[in-house]
Amino acid sequence: MSRGFSIKTRKKELEKCSTIDFDLIVIGGGITGAGIALDAVTRGFKTLLLEKSDFASGTSSKSTKLIHGGLRYLKQFEIGLVRESGRERAIVHNLAPHLVHPEKMLLPIVKHGSFSQFTASLAVSVYDYLAGVSRVDRKEIFNKEEALKLESLLDKDTLKAAIRYSEYRTDDARLSFELIRKARELGCHVFNYCKLDQLSYKEGIVNGVEAIDMTDGARFKFKSKYVVSAAGPWVDGIRNNDHSLKGKQLRLTKGVHIVFRHEDLPLKQAIYFDDFKGRMLFAIPRWGVSYVGTTDTDYAGNLDRVVCGENDLQYLIEATNNMFDGIELKASDVISSWAGLRPLISEPGKKASEVSRKDEIFESDSGLISIAGGKLTGYRKMAKRVLDLLRDKDRRLPQSNCITDTVKLSSVPFKDYREVNNMKQQIQSEFPELVQGPVMASYMVDNYGIHAGTILESARQLLTKHKDPDQALMQAELHSALENEACYRPEDFFIRRTGMLYFAPERLLKHFDFILDEYARFFSWDSVSIEKFKSEALQLLKDSLVT
Ligand code: FAD
Repeated sequence: MSRGFSIKTRKKELEKCSTIDFDLIVIGGGITGAGIALDAVTRGFKTLLLEKSDFASGTSSKSTKLIHGGLRYLKQFEIGLVRESGRERAIVHNLAPHLVHPEKMLLPIVKHGSFSQFTASLAVSVYDYLAGVSRVDRKEIFNKEEALKLESLLDKDTLKAAIRYSEYRTDDARLSFELIRKARELGCHVFNYCKLDQLSYKEGIVNGVEAIDMTDGARFKFKSKYVVSAAGPWVDGIRNNDHSLKGKQLRLTKGVHIVFRHEDLPLKQAIYFDDFKGRMLFAIPRWGVSYVGTTDTDYAGNLDRVVCGENDLQYLIEATNNMFDGIELKASDVISSWAGLRPLISEPGKKASEVSRKDEIFESDSGLISIAGGKLTGYRKMAKRVLDLLRDKDRRLPQSNCITDTVKLSSVPFKDYREVNNMKQQIQSEFPELVQGPVMASYMVDNYGIHAGTILESARQLLTKHKDPDQALMQAELHSALENEACYRPEDFFIRRTGMLYFAPERLLKHFDFILDEYARFFSWDSVSIEKFKSEALQLLKDSLVT
């Protein structure tokens, strides 16, 4: 399939899919569905993936954006989970080095904190051991003075020491999208804005779905041997429609992150810190801002609109101010935020933060398979479990094994992390008028990988049309996203393809009207559509506290 991937030209493909007998239909284009689609297509399954909104618009764009083993799960003795996700980190880094970056995490040991230096040090050693971390990357212990050199914002009065250990940082939405794009490149049919409306049955067994093209309301029937629901927080809704919602159910908990300008929270490095009430939080510098999170509270509201509440905001600000020296942040310093839902498997009697993050597969009498729980980090192993199950239960399906640990995620992949860093240097010297400084270079390469070069070339061609060189770059980025990355709503571009709403809201606001105008031109919107899409986009800016 070509690199072109546009909503505008997909109608024929949708029609063609309604004539194919698929092996597998995957519902949900978050990280779980994306991982399943890639595993399936690489094993030779005829596969279709449907996503009701944009790819990764559910939980998979609202995480802490870490590829990690989850140090805190050791407290709950989740040894298997920590080992599996810990080991996955290096694999996913190798598959997409521009998207999964090594990130050293500093764990300060403080007076009256939740743990002593002995316990923390032991926990990190076990963590490194379970994850199979190489000798050079294992934990380091620093005394108070050394720790302050690493991060001068730590509170001199309460700090006792610090431990530094290895993690990885990612962009959850782009990681999901790259998995989907790779699956498509290998022959999987994938559609965003295409919603499962009803399951279809033959003699009580699921044999396909009826779906709605959300861009124009057209209905399609797709046939398949199996349907897997990887619908995250919506999994129980689909089980309910299948009349199979019995036994274990989901427990949804909300997690919020807030973003500050680097000047207001000038972190030099990522910190895993104590809220002094028994919970741990992350503070992470990225692309010239710093973000803090997360919360973990039960949720029973609207699944399609999850926002940062007043209590979430106050809690995160207070914990940040308590932790860092000389920091007195206020609500008005928050430049952006995001809130997402963990689709956890309910364990009655446990507090939200104590519920296991393990994934689970449910098989209904109708043959519908649902998967929920788990973590971004474990997407490959979750997919493997689903595909192994299907392969083992039905000899008509391809009988091959999982190979996704060898499938690089970009059409033109980087060999290693050194190449990623070299490209960041190179584009600064080759395109000085467009890439001014390391933050912009990281933004371009982290988002677009090697394609950053093509986008910058296009932007250069557009320079004569724009007074502001950054508007030329915006136009080139946007057109690439519309033509090659299946954007439909403006927010697909400014949240999930670029992360601008969260990490560069000021750049987004500067170009907001221009982005809307370009969308209108590309899709030939009439005035009613312009108003509709604009008001939806403005609502999102409001929800993210961008003023
Ligand atoms: P989702 O991403 O929600 O995807 C489900 C998709 O199904 C949605 O896009 C939805 O639109 C679609 N869908 C629903 N119904 C239909 C339908 N009828 N038809 C078609 N499509 C449908 N994990 C980590 O490894 N590292 C972290 O740092 C981390 N931090 C986290 C922080 C927070 C605050 C939260 C909430 C989670 C965090 N996680 C983290 C966990 C991780 O984000 C989730 O486990 C993961 O994103 C869940 O992905 P998913 O694909 O299962 O669900």
